[in-house]
Formats: sequence, C-alpha cells, structure tokens
Amino acid sequence: MSLLVVGSVALDSVETPFGKAEEVIGGSANYFSASASHQVPVQMVGVVGSDYPVEKLEPLAARGVDLSGLERAEGESFRWRGRYRHDLNSAETLETRLGVFSHFRPKLPEGFRDAEFVFLANIDPRLQLDVLRQVRKPKLVACDTMNFWIESRRANLLELLGQVDLITLNDGEARQLTEQANLVQAARWILARGPRTVLIKKGEHGAFMFTRDSVFFAPAYPLESVFDPTGAGDSFAGGFMGWLARTRDLTDANLRRAVVLGSAMGSFVVEGFSITRLLEVSRADIERRVADFHRLVSFDQALDA
Ligand code: AMP
Repeated sequence: MSLLVVGSVALDSVETPFGKAEEVIGGSANYFSASASHQVPVQMVGVVGSDYPVEKLEPLAARGVDLSGLERAEGESFRWRGRYRHDLNSAETLETRLGVFSHFRPKLPEGFRDAEFVFLANIDPRLQLDVLRQVRKPKLVACDTMNFWIESRRANLLELLGQVDLITLNDGEARQLTEQANLVQAARWILARGPRTVLIKKGEHGAFMFTRDSVFFAPAYPLESVFDPTGAGDSFAGGFMGWLARTRDLTDANLRRAVVLGSAMGSFVVEGFSITRLLEVSRADIERRVADFHRLVSFDQALDA
C-alpha cells in the first residue's frame, strides 16, 4: 500500500479576506502528504533550500511521512505568494520563485521505487516525468498541474498525459489545457490522450469524476466559513489517493468513495492557514464529515413528479 508523492515543498505567503500568513509551510507535496497520511504512510520526494525550516515538517514525519526523499540543496526554497479576493475559488498568483526547484533532478531512494500508488503533484512536468521513469511497476499513477505549467511546459505536460492513469485539475485549468469551454468536452479531450480517469475540481461547487463510460459528482462540503482555500486541491488528492492506496481497490464504486474522502479532506484544510487543520483532525472527525456528505446527497428516488 505504498504511496509516493513528488511535488513542491514551499514557503507560502497568502492573503485572504480573513487574514494573512507569511512564509508558512506549503507546497503541493506537503498538503498532499498531510492529508494522505490519515490513510497510509507516505513517501515524499522534493527539494528544499538551505533556508527551509525543516523542523516544521516533524509533525508530518510523526504521522508516517517518510522524508528521506526530500533533498536539501544550497539556495533558496520554492516560494509562492498568492491572494484570494472574495471569490475564494481562484487564487491570484502574485509571485512564484522556483529557487532550488529550477535545478532539481529527483532521485528516488531505492525503497521508493516499488511504490504502487504514485501522485505527481503540481510541479514542473519534466520533473513529474523524471520521477515516473524511476518507479518500477506502479498500480496507479495520478498527476496534477496548474496554469503556470500549462502555459510554460505544454509539450511536456501532453507527454505526461500519455503516461498517467488519472489526472486531477480544476475547471479553469481543464479549460485552459483543452481549449474547450464545456467541461464534459474538456474531460473527453483529456480521456482521448491517455488517462482513464479525469477528476475536475470546481472549488466550492464540488468535483466531477469522468471515465470513458461514467460520470460521478460529489459536492463540496457547505462550510459556513472558508478561511484559506490554499491546498484544497492537494488535500483532496491526498484523501483520494490515500483511500485508494489503503483499500487497493480500483473499482468504480471505490473510486467514488475516494472522491468523497478527498472532498472531506479538502473541506478541513480550508478551515485554517497552511496544513494546520490537517494535523489536528482525528479519524473520528473525518468519519463524521464523510457521514455528513452521505446525508447531504441522500434523497428518496420515488419522486411524484
Ligand atoms: P492548491 O491545492 O491548488 O491550492 O495548491 C496550493 C499550493 O501550490 C501552494 O501551497 C503553493 O506552494 C503551490 N504552488 C503554487 N504555484 C506552484 C507552482 N508553479 N508549482 C508548484 N507548486 C505551486
């Protein structure tokens, strides 16, 4: 049930209508790992610079995240600065500083190469491809991406599409990648290029899962207050992949359960800055929220129209 993630290990500075955080623990690999570690141990691959407060990752290690694939390089850590205005569904990137990520060549520790479940989190698609070349026989490979890479590394991203089983992206990214305004057509476009499953996240409006012959939709949890949406996508992916790695069941019914668990994890992370809430929540909290999701979408089919 080994689960491997490669992604950004960042220092984030975030501004939302409700507050500000400066240089907090962020990055796709951190959010993913904090979320997935509620289900299975996680192997993380990434790089930090000499200025990274690695001691702040100790709570992750304590939760079963293996950091032996986290390289420490000379130079500046990856930094992302973003702002959300009242539409919390879309982040405005104010600054991206790649730092040590610009020279990073991932080297998987020998023990990581047999990973069965692999998540190529948001990072340069050339690095995602690099990691994929080093894993031996994964059962499921999923990837994520964002506008930054769709614009700057489109050819590499299309190459990657041909090599993954599943992709997660938000609705804006799906439209940008496929140049299709309609999401069903965008999903078809992607399905025709490799992945068997496409997960399109729509922020507070939930997430769609498309395969060649089915569509599933899970709403987002109707939270009364969303504090900081950063990391919702990666936490969603962490819950989703964590569940699949734990159950090792890739049937459609189980993929649907994974989408709901992903939505539950996404709903926790947005309640606070950074990965704080993911470290606080208990198994009982997660189970309660999944039960709430079940109630949220249950209805009696016998409608008298
Ligand atoms: P999301 O789950 O989509 O909200 O992802 C948020 C995380 O993405 C933040 O913690 C950022 O550090 C990270 N991020 C932002 N831009 C990039 C980028 N170009 N490459 C990799 N990670 C990024």
